[in-house]
Amino acid sequence: MNKKNLTNFIQTRIGFFCLLLVLFALKYIFAAYHDFNLGISDPYQHIIMWLSPVGSAILLMSIGLYFSKPLVSYCAMILLDVANSGLLFANVLYYRQFSDFITVKTITNAGKVAPGLGKSAVALLQPSDLLLWLDLIIIIILLLAHKIRIDQKSFGLLTPFAVTSVGALILVLNVFLAESSRPRLLGTTFDRSYIVKYLGIDTYTVYDAVKNEQTEQVNKNANTADLNKILAYTKKNKLPVNTEYFGKEKGKNVIIIHLESFQQFLIDLKINGQEVTPYLNSLYHNKHTLSFANFYHQVGIGRTSDAENMLETSTYGISDGSLFTAMGSSNTFQAAPQILRQHGNYTSAVFHGNVGTFWNRDDVYKNMGYNYFFDQNYFSHDKNDHIGYGIKDKIMFAESIKYLERIQQPFYTKFITVTNHTPFDMDEEDLDPSFKTSDTSDKSINNYFETAHYLDQSIREFFNYLKKSGLIKNTMVVIYGDHYGLTNSENETLAPMVGESSDTWNAYNNVQMQRVPFMIHAPNLKGKIKQEVAGEIDVLPTLLHLLGISNRNYIQFGSDLLSPKYRPWLTFRNGTIVSQKYVIGGKGLKGIVYDRKSGKQIINFTEQEKYEITKLAKEGKMSLKYSDLLNNHNLLRLYTPSGFKPVDPTQFDYLTNYRQMEELRQKLKNKSTALISKQRKSTTRLYKTDATELKGREEEITTIPESVSGNHLTEKQTKPSKNHKKSYN
Ligand code: MN
Repeated sequence: MNKKNLTNFIQTRIGFFCLLLVLFALKYIFAAYHDFNLGISDPYQHIIMWLSPVGSAILLMSIGLYFSKPLVSYCAMILLDVANSGLLFANVLYYRQFSDFITVKTITNAGKVAPGLGKSAVALLQPSDLLLWLDLIIIIILLLAHKIRIDQKSFGLLTPFAVTSVGALILVLNVFLAESSRPRLLGTTFDRSYIVKYLGIDTYTVYDAVKNEQTEQVNKNANTADLNKILAYTKKNKLPVNTEYFGKEKGKNVIIIHLESFQQFLIDLKINGQEVTPYLNSLYHNKHTLSFANFYHQVGIGRTSDAENMLETSTYGISDGSLFTAMGSSNTFQAAPQILRQHGNYTSAVFHGNVGTFWNRDDVYKNMGYNYFFDQNYFSHDKNDHIGYGIKDKIMFAESIKYLERIQQPFYTKFITVTNHTPFDMDEEDLDPSFKTSDTSDKSINNYFETAHYLDQSIREFFNYLKKSGLIKNTMVVIYGDHYGLTNSENETLAPMVGESSDTWNAYNNVQMQRVPFMIHAPNLKGKIKQEVAGEIDVLPTLLHLLGISNRNYIQFGSDLLSPKYRPWLTFRNGTIVSQKYVIGGKGLKGIVYDRKSGKQIINFTEQEKYEITKLAKEGKMSLKYSDLLNNHNLLRLYTPSGFKPVDPTQFDYLTNYRQMEELRQKLKNKSTALISKQRKSTTRLYKTDATELKGREEEITTIPESVSGNHLTEKQTKPSKNHKKSYN
């Protein structure tokens, strides 16, 4: 076809259709290579991927051909193309942040994560994203300028039907090729990136919607028989306690420090001869810290919220999406705050510098039984004090003391840091001039060390306060990293820095990068660095036993890490299993298995190995399956352990935390156990920070802002969050 013929062809309705189709397919292929990491290896897979957007796009856009009026038909085709491009664009942005594709659940719960994500979506934009819209912009301009004319020839039903049929045929061919390259692609194992790789985003989205609907139908049919199965299953997670540790920290305050995106490889790591996190390193080796060298995160797409869920409940996050956003508003929880309230009269609180609605926390925390939630509203509203996902860590810690000292003891509190969050941005003024970061080609890696270094400094400042105020004496501090910060695609660049080679970097190395810190520090604990494998699911049983509380009656999927009968394996949310001996991919014996200690792939299995690996694979699957059964069907609503009172979420109001604490103190008078009551003066002056933002504004650490003291609150202003969000979002 020569140029003139081509131009004439485009002036026909079918030609216009083909133009849209070809441009969409090109955009898709560009995004697949440029934005997604689909792991396309052999030429066959490349061809399948090129084909993957075509069938569904024809099916979708051919709807426009059925309209007999030419103008309506053209508009419909363009609108369908816009919708299809929009879906691709949304997935590109989402993938950039989460290394995953959008699910139907993510969309239906988008409102709950959106306030926090909104800002980052803009930050995620790249110039190349314009390409995803450029074709449509040009075509619309050409139409308006009459360079492309609307073909006025009438159009029967036969041609549209033929086009639709061609689309369906290509789709069938696509599925056939995909199945031959990867058998049982649409079977039981649901791996999003594989489905996108072989069938494209449109087909994936439809598939996901169907699957989602099926799950919802299953949920409706849950009953007590399922609950009994779960109870029987979780019984074997209950291990004999270690008498050396059981009750060792009984009655102590608990402070959980959630290190955002902090990985274990940072511990003791030196860049340019300097330690990246000297203070956390010193805690790691401290003679009063129980440290775990092989502690793995087990989060899925719910990332931070999955980690929180595992720590608070010892159940896994859900397989698809975030439990917090998908079911956190309605599910029954038997979580740490309520267990500790029942068994030790604990008061609980969370400190976090993002908006309270992010990950649906404001609802979830009430359902978990948290007394207080100090979100962004309780901290400085100065724009310069925020970056990325909320208030900078140093300022969050410094400004939390005036609240912390008013909480009745013993308390169970959690500090969720945010500064060390991808894309690891920092303001110039917060950089430590004496710390020189790496100089790799990857900006994320270089930035990561800087934000981790900053986080380390903020932990040091917080610990200095704990020591000066004397709080450390009756407190158990738990420090953990929630999940990876650097993604698998960045790991290869990172390899030389962690003593590996980029050339030999493999799946085993990626699994090892999922290790995060877990440390328990208390002045009366005898410290050591434990080498056993452990996971986030195990934290709650371990902490309960240290506090002298039996977990016997609770449904928990983790096990006490200090038990003499300790359980030597854990499963990732994607099915990967790590045991003392093995690293087993999601497919058990049929997949790749590594020797965990040497990192060598095991090729020929002995009978003993076959037996052990099969058993572990089954155990891991069962563990996830029963946790999903429990959470997806909200089965805890049918089970109340003896000695446990279900949470009444309506008793909590996170807008008036300060007023509630003060009223309680006045009521208790000299029976108040809050630190400020015990010491008869505020301890905020003991807090020292080098945060440049607070220079000359030190009084902010010591004074309660009017916005939270309650004095200014009128009927209309009982929701201060809206006003404050403006200053930052
Ligand atoms: Mn996180």
